[in-house]
Amino acid sequence: MATPEAAERASELRSLLNRASYEYYVLDAPTLEDAVYDQLYRELQEIEAQHPDLVVSDSPTQRVGDRPSAQFSSVRHNIPLYSLENAFNTDELEAWQARWQRVMSVEQFDYVGELKIDGSALALTYEHGVLVRGVTRGDGVKGEDITPNVRTIRAIPLRLAGAVPPVVEVRGEAFLPLDVFEQINAEREANGEALFANPRNAAAGTLRQLDSRIVAQRRLDFFAYTLHLGGSALRDGTGDRPVSAPKTQWDCLDLLQQMGFKVNPYRCLCASLPELKDFADHWQQARMALPYLTDGLVVKLNSLALQEELGFTQKFPRWAIALKYPAEEAPTVVQQISVNVGRTGAVTPVAELRPVQLAGTTVARATLHNADFVAERDVRTGDTVIVRKAGEIIPEVVRVLPELRPPHTTLFAMPTHCPECGQPLVKPDDEAVTRCINASCPAIVRGALVHWASRAALDINGLGEKWVTQFVERGLVQSVADLYDLTVEQLQSLERMGQKSAENLVGAIAHSTQQPWSRVLYGLGIRHVGNVNAQVLAEQFTHVDALAAATVEEIAAVYGIGREIAQSVSGWFRVPANAALIERLRQAGVQLSGEPPAHPMQSTDLSGKTVVITGTLPSLTRDEAKALIQQAGGKVTTSISKKTDYLLVGDDAGSKLDKAIALGITQLSEAQLLDFVSNAEE
Ligand code: NAD
Repeated sequence: MATPEAAERASELRSLLNRASYEYYVLDAPTLEDAVYDQLYRELQEIEAQHPDLVVSDSPTQRVGDRPSAQFSSVRHNIPLYSLENAFNTDELEAWQARWQRVMSVEQFDYVGELKIDGSALALTYEHGVLVRGVTRGDGVKGEDITPNVRTIRAIPLRLAGAVPPVVEVRGEAFLPLDVFEQINAEREANGEALFANPRNAAAGTLRQLDSRIVAQRRLDFFAYTLHLGGSALRDGTGDRPVSAPKTQWDCLDLLQQMGFKVNPYRCLCASLPELKDFADHWQQARMALPYLTDGLVVKLNSLALQEELGFTQKFPRWAIALKYPAEEAPTVVQQISVNVGRTGAVTPVAELRPVQLAGTTVARATLHNADFVAERDVRTGDTVIVRKAGEIIPEVVRVLPELRPPHTTLFAMPTHCPECGQPLVKPDDEAVTRCINASCPAIVRGALVHWASRAALDINGLGEKWVTQFVERGLVQSVADLYDLTVEQLQSLERMGQKSAENLVGAIAHSTQQPWSRVLYGLGIRHVGNVNAQVLAEQFTHVDALAAATVEEIAAVYGIGREIAQSVSGWFRVPANAALIERLRQAGVQLSGEPPAHPMQSTDLSGKTVVITGTLPSLTRDEAKALIQQAGGKVTTSISKKTDYLLVGDDAGSKLDKAIALGITQLSEAQLLDFVSNAEE
């Protein structure tokens, strides 16, 4: 028997998914992302599989599409026109292969991989070569007769070319090319009409227009992918000589083309799933440059005889499956809201999530930024939320699905005391951020050390979070200056630190004293002093003592340095503990002065260029990078298109990088950007 929680969740999922299906199939106006729908659907399927007593006839898992609308007459399909089973990764593809092979074991077979066009399926009937009927998929058993509308689609021949039997049924996808979709929405916006959510719903909505003249104006396109010859032999042009009928899906696609249909040119014939995976990997990126949307691949067994033998389940053909591309948005459950203390003492609420696959990686945490963000979106422990990772490294909670909120949840409240050191937290009225201001808080000390050792700062090879945590826990290090007093013997006493590693680490720390003054300044972690500001300041103040003695006005007078930064820098040097830290660093031999190295010259600059940013940059924040690009005469936009000149790429770049590769857009690293900027300044 199902638990009350499972029954409750299933019931909530059913009502949410049924409403979403209605909005999607009947109103052609979805309110959920497809990927979010797919995942919630999966969750319901899993609950139903575990608790079969929860399966009810109105569950969305028991239906295909939606009932045909009453506006058109309903027509029964000769062969069901069902949906496709989904696979979201290659493991699921292999599981599907194992499933169909259990039903029927065959040694020799191959697959056809086709692009899954994101449109609306149509079944077309030709009698004696002439188009007589066009029907939508409907619920897979019965569809709507929309023949007058189908006749307006130029890519659908009204008469077939070549030798054809008396009855031919062709299936394929009607779709709206992206430029036509954008144009339709622009016109609708100008007329104050509701916009279509995506090209697929626009295509489905257009096909079910009562006025065929409107359909004709909308310029729908069509790719054919299935051919049924009704068992009759083909005859040649004279009608006398029989021509052999195709035996494979691959041959059907060729024949469809000969009959006068548009068939998608991008297809593959593969003898195994790994080969198919290569094709899928290629198109996951390359699809970005196509003038229409695709949302995956359709994998079909090539042999028509095998297809016939395998047949259909209640909802799907057993001989085909859709391999969907990784989603950038997905629903998941917030298991807990924890708080994280950063190196600046900023306390950030973090959603600990039920792990979910997103844009090809598993996501288990998402930042909730600050208390105001949590309050605005009202995120609570137990909530089902939509998370997004669109080309960005840090996943974000986009919104809560209130329909799926369990009973008895409570509002999130920020802690009043630091979870790391127990000291009271502080939140200035004019700031969104809550902070721990205890300079010896272990979280702040750890953060300062990790930052000091990072690549863009002192670049201490081998010194990461793991060792830093042990140093702080053992009381070996309280500030970055303490690093320079560490001995090989001390390090060897740490868990899993051998003599060689200890020597290497002490050597790397000693070597860091050679790093230039600008990196040291950046490594100090003064608020608002990122990598670029540190370089600018180090160029103007070539000695730490000059910077420490400078007034706010003198610092703010430096080109590119604002008053807020100047106040932060000046304030930092006024704190006695910081002044003492500088003294100890001086004794340790760390570089606290020096001329900056000359920047290499570049032949081009960024003036008039459009730049998109993706991933985490080694040292610059997004805002800093944006400011620099603008300083060099460039413009920053958020989405990649053919008009983009450069993609500035950081670590863990996501789909923007894929798209840029597909469009052949030049990539830029942070170092190259810095060169551009220095060039623009000269
Ligand atoms: P589907 O779109 O996942 O796959 C089946 C369809 O693929 C076929 O009917 C056909 O139209 C199409 N197709 C494209 N190229 C093809 C090719 N080469 N060969 C064969 N078929 C091809 O399944 P569906 O049942 O049409 O729709 C279910 C999907 O609809 C869900 O996965 C979900 O993403 C979406 N949906 C979304 C919402 C929402 O609220 N966003 C609601 C309901 C359904």
